[in-house]
Amino acid sequence: MKYLHITLAILAIFINTSLCQTEGISVPAAASAAGASTYSCDPQVCKLANGCLCASKNPPNGLSQADTPQFVTVTFDDSIQPQLYKTAKRMLNVTNPNGCPGRGTWYVSMQYTDFSLVQQWYSSGNEIADHTFTHVGTPSDKEIVSCREMLNTYGGVPNGKIQGFRAPFLNYTKETLHQLSKLGFLYDSSASALQDDAYWPYTLDYGMANDCWTGICGSAQSKIPGLWEIPMYAVLDNTSAPQLMDVYIAGQPKDVEDWSLNTFNKHYTGGRQPFGIYVHPTHLTGYPGLPDPAPKLDGLVSLIKKLSEMPDVWFVTNQQLLQWMKNPVKASELGKQDYMRCEQPVIAKEICNGLDDDNNQNVDEGLMNSCNFGTTTFNTCFNCPSTAPTLDMPTPVTAAQNGSAGFRYPIPINCDTKWWDPIGNACLCTTNECQYKDTAVPVNRTSNGNGVVSSGPGTSSDATTQTVHLNSLFIISVCIIALFF
Ligand SMILES: [Zn+2]
Repeated sequence: MKYLHITLAILAIFINTSLCQTEGISVPAAASAAGASTYSCDPQVCKLANGCLCASKNPPNGLSQADTPQFVTVTFDDSIQPQLYKTAKRMLNVTNPNGCPGRGTWYVSMQYTDFSLVQQWYSSGNEIADHTFTHVGTPSDKEIVSCREMLNTYGGVPNGKIQGFRAPFLNYTKETLHQLSKLGFLYDSSASALQDDAYWPYTLDYGMANDCWTGICGSAQSKIPGLWEIPMYAVLDNTSAPQLMDVYIAGQPKDVEDWSLNTFNKHYTGGRQPFGIYVHPTHLTGYPGLPDPAPKLDGLVSLIKKLSEMPDVWFVTNQQLLQWMKNPVKASELGKQDYMRCEQPVIAKEICNGLDDDNNQNVDEGLMNSCNFGTTTFNTCFNCPSTAPTLDMPTPVTAAQNGSAGFRYPIPINCDTKWWDPIGNACLCTTNECQYKDTAVPVNRTSNGNGVVSSGPGTSSDATTQTVHLNSLFIISVCIIALFF
């Protein structure tokens, strides 16, 4: 039995990994310069004060290099599972200059994702972003929206905090960017940048300035006012070939560190453009019968540690980066900004909020629901659905009825996740400091197929409107596989 579990777990991992293994590991060497001249943006017209920023290799608002923070963004792609979560946490074990922990961004796809970990990632100050439901390139609206709905419903992430998107396989088009804008997203981070076009994040008021070799830069349709692009910065390997995601796959740990430091230093001593480390945690997590990835992970942990020891280096989420972009302050002022603070709630008892409230090294112990539908299993602090979520119905009716024992109250629009007690139906924030109002704009509301209008950004499903057809059926802590064998 035990071995069967392991075999099936490996199979699941393989399926999961294979979905992404062709994902943008390296960039076409022909790359960027060819169409670059078609991007044109006049900084005298496109001004940050009006929410517009041209692509540039220099810091915004004319900040000097010495006054500009060096941002490092560590991003993780695909599902969040317990072992992958540990890998990510190990990588981000660094402290920013203001004493707060380094932060990262996870682009989450839905298959195999454990939503209690989505909540824990978010509640501990990191960013959760959209990576579609089934992990497809050039996704439909439905793929993007259903992912966001599940992150909100089962992960408890406020809709207004799900602001970013990365296309699976980095396979985005002009249409994808328009969809994101229409759906209320703040930014895309799917474009690749080499040395020549290693731009700071910019708005698409004048279109794309990266991936110009695809012809996207000259296109009027890629002009999308207000939508930000956060380019992904490639590093050059021994042969000067650009490596983008999972750079550690392309060489030995020492080589990977050298290539990475080389590119980092070009940014650090140049225009201080952000530097990124983009990983698929599945590649860095050990599984029985597979080559031990520990040396690769150790190499990355060591690289990240080295970077964190340099002056003015900050490990931030992409949302934090954009908050700074919108209102750039000197590096010496950064640590005091609200979005860089890291105070956490002090709550005497454990509530299901993604944090270890009672400081016993266990998060939400005994409080999570275990939702089990055969191949789809996950934990959540919120209600299990009565059937497995699907692309067409990402948030089916709840298994527990409102008013019955075990019902969990969805996150309301006026409370942030870490203060919300979904069992007690209470927001435990009592000061102005922690008050939260989800101000995202409601867009493209869709029926989830059971008469309940599911929430777009800025809305919250009202617990009292949930219609419920089934009583709860929780199979706690039992792997469904066990039922078949
Ligand atoms: Zn992916």
